[in-house]
Amino acid sequence: MSETVSTDLRELDALVVGAGFSGLYMLHRLRNTLGMSALVLEAADDVGGTWYWNRYPGARCDSESYFYSFSDRLSEDLLEEWTWSERFAGQPEILRYLQTVADRFDLRRDIRFRTTVTAASWDDDAGRWLVDTRDGERFAARFLVTAVGCLSTTNLPEFPGRDSFRGDSFHTGLWPHEGVDFTGKRVAVIGTGATGVQLIPEVAQEAAHVTVFQRTPNYDIAGGNHPVTPDFDRKIKDDYPQIWARTRETAFGFPYDVADRTALSVPEEERREIFEEAWAKGGFRLGTTFNDLLLDEDANETAAEFLRNKIRERVDDPEIAEMLAPKDHPFFTKRPPLENGYYETYNRDNVTLVDVNKSPIEAITPAGVRTADGEYEVDSIVYATGFDAMTGTLFKLGIRGRDGLTLAEKWAEGPRSYLGIATHGFPNLFMITGPQSPSVLSNMPVSIEQHVDWVAGCLRHLREQGVARIEPTREAEDGWVAHHDEVTATTLLPRANSWWVGANIPGKHRSLYPYVGGVGTYRGICDDVAAKGYEGFTLSRADVAAA
Ligand code: FAD
Ligand code: NAP
Repeated sequence: MSETVSTDLRELDALVVGAGFSGLYMLHRLRNTLGMSALVLEAADDVGGTWYWNRYPGARCDSESYFYSFSDRLSEDLLEEWTWSERFAGQPEILRYLQTVADRFDLRRDIRFRTTVTAASWDDDAGRWLVDTRDGERFAARFLVTAVGCLSTTNLPEFPGRDSFRGDSFHTGLWPHEGVDFTGKRVAVIGTGATGVQLIPEVAQEAAHVTVFQRTPNYDIAGGNHPVTPDFDRKIKDDYPQIWARTRETAFGFPYDVADRTALSVPEEERREIFEEAWAKGGFRLGTTFNDLLLDEDANETAAEFLRNKIRERVDDPEIAEMLAPKDHPFFTKRPPLENGYYETYNRDNVTLVDVNKSPIEAITPAGVRTADGEYEVDSIVYATGFDAMTGTLFKLGIRGRDGLTLAEKWAEGPRSYLGIATHGFPNLFMITGPQSPSVLSNMPVSIEQHVDWVAGCLRHLREQGVARIEPTREAEDGWVAHHDEVTATTLLPRANSWWVGANIPGKHRSLYPYVGGVGTYRGICDDVAAKGYEGFTLSRADVAAA
């Protein structure tokens, strides 16, 4: 395929936005497998995405390292050569891994760093995307692939007086590369999601005092992090073919089977033993102990109460334990954090928990944080307040489709996609882990690989058939949205005010953003669409598209 470089406009077969897991693998497929001309535009000055930006103390994965990586789809050799040091690798190690992938597959030469995409418009006459950057550059490409991540636009709440604070403030998703020394400091941490739960025990060891502002307590699960032994590493490497096969078939892209039994089908004592056993193993296995935890409220309550009791056992002060024990939403209807010593942190003298659900934050003052109950004077504020997930970053790309409508306008009443990969009115646009695909409800590298491979297969098909344009029909899109909503309604997920339903962002449309039908089921649906000649898409040949 062709690449024309002119002084004003660089024309490519494909443009990819983002150089995390998704963008790296997409570039590899486009350029190294399909031989297309492709360029990645990336705002950061290096690869890594999530693992470039989130450098806060304690940042690590909570998918186990051995399957939080590219599979044998990328390279069996790399799998054999790469050895993770911990069961849940820390941010520096994951970043090193992604840098290694970029170097090994010679990807950097087709990545433009420090380049932020600000607009992308479909040029219907020429059948191409025109993509503009913050620095005034323009690129043209027949296909546009967004690999911008589901969790890449930070959420910094608009607290009154936020900018008046005299000390230092940080958002965990934009952490300084040189690190932050909290020694001797009084630190406020706002937010107790997966990020806060990782950061708080680390900062508490350093700071003079940590005041944690908690709005909603979570059902945190024991992580059980530990070093990887050579024996374990060898065993995993020997088992990789089976491990990857399972990640592709299970509901959440983890190589864990969900037990084929309901929670209330076993006597209470036996159920508790099952939970204890899963708890002792650490990680998300607890969610796989019964097959109805996400479907049945009574079943769910058994796990919820088990977890509340774990908190009560570990936190010395019963009042604080009750503040930390969630009662307002079922287990796993918000993303449960994995913790390593989080609850014991509240037994320290230098840690205070403030319930901002009871007395909300009224303002950030020059001296600290003011709630209805009083002012907390601090030297530093850490915002562990999460992200405008799934659509926040996509909207910032300023994508404008065939009829001049932006994606944000089209999705004002919630996302409407076909398979979470494409959307009607936006030809030749593919979204890696887009809304209404399994994405954040899965071990993401598995879902990223599935999307990238599907897009690569689609592009190969288009080339072989001389097709210039592909766009989902409105009917196919309506069908997918209806299916997505129907599956969602069978679960307990809509019950919680989670970022999965957009509840963390004031004014954001409320609906479940990821698809909960399961990784394996979803893969089957996508494969079937492809096998039927990309059923649900309109494919126009070059001569027809030009006419
Ligand atoms: P990202 O890694 O988010 O990369 C997107 C890239 O796009 C970024 O580099 C960004 O700079 C770039 N970009 C965005 N907008 C623009 C623009 N306008 N112009 C140019 N560039 C742009 N998932 C799991 O499955 N397991 C885990 O254990 C896990 N742990 C996580 C821990 C943290 C702290 C966070 C925040 C997320 C975690 N996730 C985890 C989710 C994680 O985001 C994904 O696993 C994965 O890293 C996403 O890769 P990606 O390439 O799709 O997106
Ligand atoms: P998050 O789960 O959205 O948590 C944000 C926290 O900030 C919540 O406690 C939230 O309270 C609070 N908050 C937000 N706005 C607030 C306000 N105006 N006032 C008071 N409190 C406010 O974000 P996150 O912790 O960064 O995690 C996001 C996702 O990233 C995770 O769910 C996970 O998918 C991924 N992640 C994974 C890991 C890992 O272990 N691998 C680590 C970090 C992140 P409410 O709950 O009440 O909204």
